[in-house]
Amino acid sequence: SETKKCPIEHSQFYNNQFKGVIQQIKDEGRYREFKSLLRTNGEFPRAINKTPTGDQPITLWCSNDYLGMSQNPMVTQATKNAIDLTGIGAGGTRNIGGTSIYHVELERELADLHRKDSALVMNSGYVANMATLDTLGKVLKDVTFLSDAKNHASLIEGMRATKRDRLIFKHNDYQDLEQKLKQLDIQQNKVIVFESVYSMNGTVAPIQQFINLAKKYNALTLIDEVHAVGMYGERGAGVTEKLGLQKDIDIVTGTLGKAFGCSGGYVSANSEIVDAVRSTASNFIFSTSMSPIIAAACLESVKYLKSHPEIRERHQYVASLIKAKLKSKGIPALNSASHIVPVFIGDPLLCKEASEKLLNEYNIYIQPINYPTVPRGQEILRISPTPLHTEEMIDELVNSIECVFKSLNLKLESQYTAEQ
Ligand code: PMP
Repeated sequence: SETKKCPIEHSQFYNNQFKGVIQQIKDEGRYREFKSLLRTNGEFPRAINKTPTGDQPITLWCSNDYLGMSQNPMVTQATKNAIDLTGIGAGGTRNIGGTSIYHVELERELADLHRKDSALVMNSGYVANMATLDTLGKVLKDVTFLSDAKNHASLIEGMRATKRDRLIFKHNDYQDLEQKLKQLDIQQNKVIVFESVYSMNGTVAPIQQFINLAKKYNALTLIDEVHAVGMYGERGAGVTEKLGLQKDIDIVTGTLGKAFGCSGGYVSANSEIVDAVRSTASNFIFSTSMSPIIAAACLESVKYLKSHPEIRERHQYVASLIKAKLKSKGIPALNSASHIVPVFIGDPLLCKEASEKLLNEYNIYIQPINYPTVPRGQEILRISPTPLHTEEMIDELVNSIECVFKSLNLKLESQYTAEQ
């Protein structure tokens, strides 16, 4: 049969649509440019920024390698040992040959960390949230999710994908949560979904109040401790451990890619819940499992941080020192209850310019945080201190930010608060 030539120029038709979106992002000043970093082992938080004009030595102030564990000698040695023993790949999904001795031991270690029966490791924290919510949506008939307004994209997408009802309560507002819970029948399935430490503004959830409400209104609790595991509590299990609330929380999700310095994520809960995730979550079942080498690295990191509380103490000390020093200069840093130090800029173009100036003139790397990571008009420079930042680096940081604020005429003492 005769093939008719399409009257539309095919690639242009589609490419123009992609280009249009990119142009819009550029016009709004939030086009993302990735750096090419050489994070030389043993040098963190110093690193090299590879640019077309040469190597730039920089100090990293925006890394989620919160405790520098990615370069911890015990962790890197465990990784080398594992690769010598087993090679690189898992070789399959968890069910089809992809469960290694390291996965099994890591899950035992994580369950112990969270004082739960069980844990299940995934390829990322994002997938751990998606998979867990997928299962809750499938297993709990007509479940309603009660979701904090500032929840992470992985939680929002995970709930959305279930197509179940979702009620959004005001950020960290247990009174608003109670209003929402009151609307639901006591017999109805419900899950309160929230985080412990919110990564962008550094706020911390009122976990005890949420637990009280969960008990009063017959709800399950799911806490994302992604920005807390490794860093809070006696053994690094997160804010729930710090507050002595581990046994009162039903489901914990975490990452192995931030404070633990590797990559991957997990869910930990009682054996029935974890078994249900293991048995029903599509994005867990149908995906090649985490490399056993990474699992070995994670295992060492979790064990190491369990028995090194002094790293957590130093981390908190560095964070509070930076907050105090920025405050003394009138720089609008939110006095958050956590280790995260957001400096308010409130404009995407100025935020980008401030970040570029810090990098180009002071060799300080802090990526600007724009929409959709934060709401429009709440653009920030998000500083993440580590125990490895020295007092000299801290002074350099604070003085450089002060100079950039002055040269860009940025407002000091802004009205930015946690409630915004
Ligand atoms: N939850 C929260 C609150 C996060 O901030 C992130 C990552 N930024 C994730 C989950 C996803 O974790 P991962 O990076 O391990 O995919």
